[in-house]
Amino acid sequence: MFSKILIANRGEIALRIHRAAKEMGISTVAVHSTADTNAMHVRMADESVCIGPPAASQSYLNPHAIITACEITGAEAIHPGYGFLSENASFAQIVAEHGLTFIGPTAEHIRVMGDKIAAKDTMKRLGVPCVPGSDGGVDSVEDAQALGDEIGYPVLVKAAAGGGGRGMKVARSAAEMSVAFSSARSEAKAAFGDDAVYIEKYLGRPRHIEIQVVGDSHGNAIHLGERDCSLQRRHQKVFEEAPSPVISPEQRAEIGETCAKAMREMGYLGVGTIEFLYEDGQFYFIEMNTRLQVEHPVTEMVYDIDLVREQIRIAAGEKLSLSQDRVVPRGHAVECRINAEALPAFAPRPGKVQAYHAPGGLGVRMDSALYDGYAIPPHYDSLIGKLIVQGEDRRDCLMRLRRALTELIVDGVETTAPLFQALLDDPDLQAGMYDIHWLEDWLKERF
Ligand code: ADP
Repeated sequence: MFSKILIANRGEIALRIHRAAKEMGISTVAVHSTADTNAMHVRMADESVCIGPPAASQSYLNPHAIITACEITGAEAIHPGYGFLSENASFAQIVAEHGLTFIGPTAEHIRVMGDKIAAKDTMKRLGVPCVPGSDGGVDSVEDAQALGDEIGYPVLVKAAAGGGGRGMKVARSAAEMSVAFSSARSEAKAAFGDDAVYIEKYLGRPRHIEIQVVGDSHGNAIHLGERDCSLQRRHQKVFEEAPSPVISPEQRAEIGETCAKAMREMGYLGVGTIEFLYEDGQFYFIEMNTRLQVEHPVTEMVYDIDLVREQIRIAAGEKLSLSQDRVVPRGHAVECRINAEALPAFAPRPGKVQAYHAPGGLGVRMDSALYDGYAIPPHYDSLIGKLIVQGEDRRDCLMRLRRALTELIVDGVETTAPLFQALLDDPDLQAGMYDIHWLEDWLKERF
């Protein structure tokens, strides 16, 4: 096992990783930009190294500064968290080339899954159900139109290098295709420097359901059920729950085993998430994230497992601590993403937190790096905390969430917390009857 690891991230996730490491008797090294000198992840870590100016491109995204910080402190492994360098295959490779351990999958697996065309090909080959669409990339409008006629409109033109919903355009007819095709291409080129696109059937009102997988270096891989992340705004997740209100134990076992088997065949290392759209009882693979997800705590609550601990153990060459027959979901968990943003436009509102009080009590977990007097810097993502709540069943869990939300105090900055109180009053939300467009419609009606 490692004796010291470096955490190449900031905010709540850096703290989350620090906690797992300390419970394993591992020392931690924080890295930070000059904007984060007073951040909680720096205060908590055993050691810290300043790696550059506020701009992420010159600090948290600078591989060489991070490797140097490892060398200075003698850290043996790097946990990338989510975002930043977590899905950067070259970074994973550089880490390995320096004789350090990247706490995550191999550079090769990150690379394959980062290219959505290659990812889809791989999953299809491994027997994972995919959205009907093009075999590989599509190079011309004519080919795109021919495919549209074949699979039936509407279709979606998607960037191979896509992320964050960018480079994605709907075409409802052959006439619309020429515009959709060229604008998806130019958006992809501008955002990712790669204009490769592919085509998928556009699903009307699906849910977003993702399967948590974890594999070790001894040939074992299991699944930890699903998370329902259908409540989204601009393709960004806002509220997640496990289990999904619409998935039966039989469906979970079937799709879960399909995913776990695919991971065993790939020899996948560490945690990963296989994302699906779900409509009319069918799962359609859309992408795989080769890292820890923001919403991983709902799975931890329901399966009573520490996913970060598993990641560290696996990276150190140990076996999975669980076998599939021992993982049984218990109760229900939900997560609210609390952002420093002003409703209704979700405009970022960095600033000084005058007072902070985290909710507590049975079944309540607040993952946050806030403290009284903390100045939220304007340079990074606006997520400032995640409120995760567990209950015996979904109803119990939502009642507890209502209670916990009333205890949350973040004075001095506006947050998205009031959104969740309002959502809890909605009968569709209470009934679990929503799809990926539901929240956008709800927001339009209310604001
Ligand atoms: P990104 O990596 O840019 O987030 P994804 O492939 O994960 O792209 O898709 C993001 C979101 O776009 C999905 O959660 C879903 O809301 C929507 N989406 C993606 N593919 C389809 C599809 N074939 N039909 C309908 N909606 C889709």
